[in-house]
Amino acid sequence: SSFDHVDWQSILNDIATDIQPYLAKGKVASYIPALANVDPHQFGIAFTDIRGNTYKAGPSADTPFSIQSISKVFALVMALDLEGEALWKKVGREPSGGRFNSIVQLESEQGRPRNPFINAGAIAVTNSIQQHYCSGSDSNNKEDDKKLYTRQYTHKTSPDEYNSIAINKILDFLKTCAQTDQDIRIDPEVARSEALFGDRNRALAYFMRSYGVVQGDIGQTLHTYFHQCALEMSVTTLSKAGLFLAAAGQNPLAEDDGAMLVTSHDHVDRVNSLMMLCGHYDMSGDFAFRVGLAGKSGVGGGILAVVPDVGTLAVWSPRLNKAGNSYAGTLALEWFSGRTGVNLF
Ligand code: GLN
Repeated sequence: SSFDHVDWQSILNDIATDIQPYLAKGKVASYIPALANVDPHQFGIAFTDIRGNTYKAGPSADTPFSIQSISKVFALVMALDLEGEALWKKVGREPSGGRFNSIVQLESEQGRPRNPFINAGAIAVTNSIQQHYCSGSDSNNKEDDKKLYTRQYTHKTSPDEYNSIAINKILDFLKTCAQTDQDIRIDPEVARSEALFGDRNRALAYFMRSYGVVQGDIGQTLHTYFHQCALEMSVTTLSKAGLFLAAAGQNPLAEDDGAMLVTSHDHVDRVNSLMMLCGHYDMSGDFAFRVGLAGKSGVGGGILAVVPDVGTLAVWSPRLNKAGNSYAGTLALEWFSGRTGVNLF
């Protein structure tokens, strides 16, 4: 391709150096203690090209961090594969122009979230995965739901009371995508924090159920969602996990034929479109304007960005801008795009 002669490594090295003065800008996520306590002065960036070569720079390129909402991309791919077009009955494809955890639009849109990358939409997607793997469990049992509600309300929920089939499927999917068993885990401390301080997400989920948009055991769906948010890995591993998004759904890292096809080309095109339009909440327009790539952020300070047919980038720096996206991470991607010419436009 026209990028064959780009020296990815030296571009990443320069970015990691030039970014230093900007690492003090923004604020780390404070909605849960497990994130508020992360050392804010960190930076890592990694690029995996379409052949599977990984380049990385920055002192934190191998440090695992909480990928948070970046997990919404992988969950969406899984749900699309499981449900196909029917998924769009539950969730829309429009930018929300609102905050990641906003509830206001849900009422005027009969409980159907605007897109799969705001919390409400992601919870609907996780509900769909949940229903698929555990449809036998407690579904629509009002008595059980009452019990679950009481347990959550008093914050006494023990993770052991829920099954972990769906979350393990999501975890396995990420491991298959990244082709590693090692560097991807769920941080139990973050998962606990998500559950303890998750009333807003509970509100979104039960509100959607009142419209029939999500179904079944909502406590179980939330359990899976909280753990999905607590997935952690390094930017190096994340850039590999997302590589299929740059490779038309194929996994260039896979050695055995069975793992080669992650999802269809069609699903990848759609997921990338949604990442560009909705991947950064109410600053999605700003991200598209400055970076010109499909990207998805998480409140842990990570961003995954896709250059179709060329490679996948992951960047991490914990301090966030006002919309909850990594300040330095966005800037680093803007420089990467400008310096290499990968901007899609
Ligand atoms: N765990 C976060 C939440 O549900 C995820 C949001 C995000 O990364 N923007 O509030």
